[in-house]
Amino acid sequence: MGKTIRVGVNGFHTIGARVADAVKKQSDMELVGVSKLKPDYRARIAQEKGIDVYAADQKSLKSFKDSKTKVKGTLDDLLQGVDLIVDATPDGVGASNKPTYERAGVKAIFQGGEEHSLTNFSFVAQCNYEGGADKRYVRVVSCNTTGLCRTLHALEGAFGIEKARAVLVRRGADPDEVSKGPIDAVVLDPATIPSHHAPDVQSVLRGLNIVTMAIKAPTTHMHLHSLLVTLRKKPSRELVIDALENEPRMLLVDSKSGFKSTASLVDMAREMGRPRNDIYEGVVWADSVTVLEKEVYLFLAVHQEAIVVPENIDAIRAMTGGYTKAQSMRVTDDSLGIIPRFWKS
Ligand code: NAD
Repeated sequence: MGKTIRVGVNGFHTIGARVADAVKKQSDMELVGVSKLKPDYRARIAQEKGIDVYAADQKSLKSFKDSKTKVKGTLDDLLQGVDLIVDATPDGVGASNKPTYERAGVKAIFQGGEEHSLTNFSFVAQCNYEGGADKRYVRVVSCNTTGLCRTLHALEGAFGIEKARAVLVRRGADPDEVSKGPIDAVVLDPATIPSHHAPDVQSVLRGLNIVTMAIKAPTTHMHLHSLLVTLRKKPSRELVIDALENEPRMLLVDSKSGFKSTASLVDMAREMGRPRNDIYEGVVWADSVTVLEKEVYLFLAVHQEAIVVPENIDAIRAMTGGYTKAQSMRVTDDSLGIIPRFWKS
């Protein structure tokens, strides 16, 4: 394969820290450094892990120096040493960073908090890996869109989809987001329909007839989707399960085996020794899969902090070349410990 891909990560928290660790696990990539706004404990953790830390800008550089936190330079310095930057800054900040990447002549991957129009190419590895080949800028879609795209890709490939409807129960906040809620409410997110997820899925699966509704619930564990998909041909339940089992990065579980809730899934990841309890797969309850004529019903769980990590790694390879979709996904999955496992009784 080609030469080592030099990668930087800008924004080092929920997604950025995970992507940085995942880049370090790839034998064809080098993590040159990460860029951070604040000299907080995460800067020290990065250094403990042997990662060079850069300040986001001159003001941030000053706060690093004032707090006597080791710093290699600024984002501009980091950009000089990389082929590609993964931007994992908060929603909208990525868009304001794009001119900096353009000036530096560096390819960039943005996250799902940015608009599709920022790159005009939204990525989910199994759906459109090849489309990344000629792109300088790619957007890896959000966690929920990734989970929906993987699931719908499986059903579209096997049966064709007439229409898809999904109700998403979203986690209220990530585990360490103490300032966010809700604490004791279910919030319409938003009250208007469709939620932003439907057009976002259509940015990857073009022309798909999909409507989504979303609410936010007081949990940090995962998102849970209720899906109703009308297929073009009447399937058997077994064939639907086969299609989902054969789809990469999908995991089937079963309530009879003890998987009663998203908490059981997080417990499984913890007991399996997954880093940060991460679940990279879209998780479908096999016993929820119900077929009525051409309609399929199922529950899908999405680990918001983890599901886009393998997508970012594959997007890096898609944009820099040398690997087919299957090769890249296999290398990524091997490095992250994603193996096909079916937790059904
Ligand atoms: P986060 O708030 O956990 O991390 C962002 C980090 O970037 C913070 O440490 C923040 O201090 C830092 N930052 C802010 N401005 C910066 C700047 N100018 N330069 C460098 N660093 C800066 O955010 P996140 O949850 O990792 O989200 C990042 C992106 O990933 C967003 O687009 C988000 O929508 C998307 N995403 C998030 C999740 C999730 O559930 N957390 C899931 C999928 C996609």
